[in-house]
Amino acid sequence: MSTFDTVVIGAGMSGLTSARMLADAGQRVVVLEGRDRIGGRMHTDRSAGFPVDLGASWIHGIENSPLWDLVHALRIPAIEYTVGSFQVGGRPIENYDGEGRRLDEAATAQWVSDVDLADRLLVEEIAASSSGDTYLDVTERALDRSGLSPDRIDDIREFFRHRVEEQCGAWIGDLDAHGLDEDAIEGDEVIFPRGYDELPRRIADGLDVRLETVVTRVSRSAAGVVVRAGDTEYRADRVIVTVPLGVLKAGTISFDPELPEAVSGPISRLGMGVFNKVFVQFPERFWDEETYVIRALGDAGEHWHSWYDVSAVSGIPTLLTFAAGPFGRRMQDLADAEIVADAVSALHVLYRDAVGEPLAHWVTRWGEDEFSNGSYSHLALGSTHHDHDALAGPVDGVLHFAGEATWGDEPATVGAAFYSGHRAAERILDRPVDLADFAARITAREQTVGR
Ligand SMILES: Cc1cc2nc3c(=O)[nH]c(=O)nc-3n(C[C@H](O)[C@H](O)[C@H](O)COP(=O)(O)OP(=O)(O)OC[C@H]3O[C@@H](n4cnc5c(N)ncnc54)[C@H](O)[C@@H]3O)c2cc1C
Repeated sequence: MSTFDTVVIGAGMSGLTSARMLADAGQRVVVLEGRDRIGGRMHTDRSAGFPVDLGASWIHGIENSPLWDLVHALRIPAIEYTVGSFQVGGRPIENYDGEGRRLDEAATAQWVSDVDLADRLLVEEIAASSSGDTYLDVTERALDRSGLSPDRIDDIREFFRHRVEEQCGAWIGDLDAHGLDEDAIEGDEVIFPRGYDELPRRIADGLDVRLETVVTRVSRSAAGVVVRAGDTEYRADRVIVTVPLGVLKAGTISFDPELPEAVSGPISRLGMGVFNKVFVQFPERFWDEETYVIRALGDAGEHWHSWYDVSAVSGIPTLLTFAAGPFGRRMQDLADAEIVADAVSALHVLYRDAVGEPLAHWVTRWGEDEFSNGSYSHLALGSTHHDHDALAGPVDGVLHFAGEATWGDEPATVGAAFYSGHRAAERILDRPVDLADFAARITAREQTVGR
């Protein structure tokens, strides 16, 4: 039996942040991680010689962002890419109609203004909504009031459905009317040409992280906690559980005594969505040089609707598309080759013979991953914003939770994971932890060991 001040379960962004802060404060900390790698849902595949971010890629808004301040302080290079939040305009987007014809300038302007109008009405409908209203209910009410023609309404309806799938990994009818309230973006968005997992890796450097250590049981008493993984027990004064909401829902970790309703209620009420990525590399670019996103509206985009040009990361023409919500779940049962063929056939509708044979592809299946059981949390019908923060506990003063699902301001993001890890460390230390100091300590440690 090993004894620590704090056991942290999970070596993703939230767990590593809190572990680092507690270790910096002089605590004996161990991080138990089920996978054979750190980073969790920040996962960069470098096997092809360049980084491919299979999990998180974007910081959604770098203004007033302590996460961006950390990235900046660590001098991690970033590329501006301000369309990561399903924007309709703002950056060059190639839009195609339901038959695969490119919208000209006038049609594009009308499309952008149609969505703006519907979004303004939607804000009013959300404010006027009642408990039990879904996001589908409020969007339909907004569309009814828009006065637009049925075919224009159909395109916006499809756009709203896809926006919910991408932002929440959920079907629009399962999301609460307030499910995208916290979706405001301040400033530009960025992605990471060296791979986003550089951030958790640098935070983890020097920590006691035990990989391939799958926790199955957490027991607590007034004296502290005992965490079981395989045949080993780890005793500590307290524990921070940072496993994803999908893992908590699956019940693969048992809690003794059982979790109180204050925490088990949010676990059952909040939703865990599925959002998968498909990267396809091509021999040549067949889209415009300045294009950020290719978007197919109406029938042409029923499944594969948005393609993001991420060629700048590898230097090879590369498009990233997403399969989320019910389609994202169904897709996971297919072989990679089938998925890629289906996705590329959707591009053929837009670009005909200009689409070359794919050179390489990457496909994720986060919904089948036993260590996440989904991609990120959302406000399922029946849950409230309060459920996110209530999930953090603490329970009996010794059992803390952190992770994206525990942060109500901007759940489902790396920022949420970071801030929730920070909150757990502050609660345990019972004092503020300065974020500038946190970053400075990381760089000072790197200088000491010559990195
Ligand atoms: C495809 C995809 C794209 C995304 N894109 C973005 C984006 O562009 N921008 C953004 O901000 N966010 C994005 N996100 C969300 C972001 O990745 C997450 O919110 C964030 O990384 C979560 O960090 P975390 O610490 O809460 O959880 P995790 O990173 O999941 O860490 C939890 C850790 O717990 C471990 N674990 C699970 N069960 C056990 C067990 N029984 N015992 C021990 N360890 C266990 C897991 O292996 C994992 O390492 C994306 C997520 C996905 C899946």
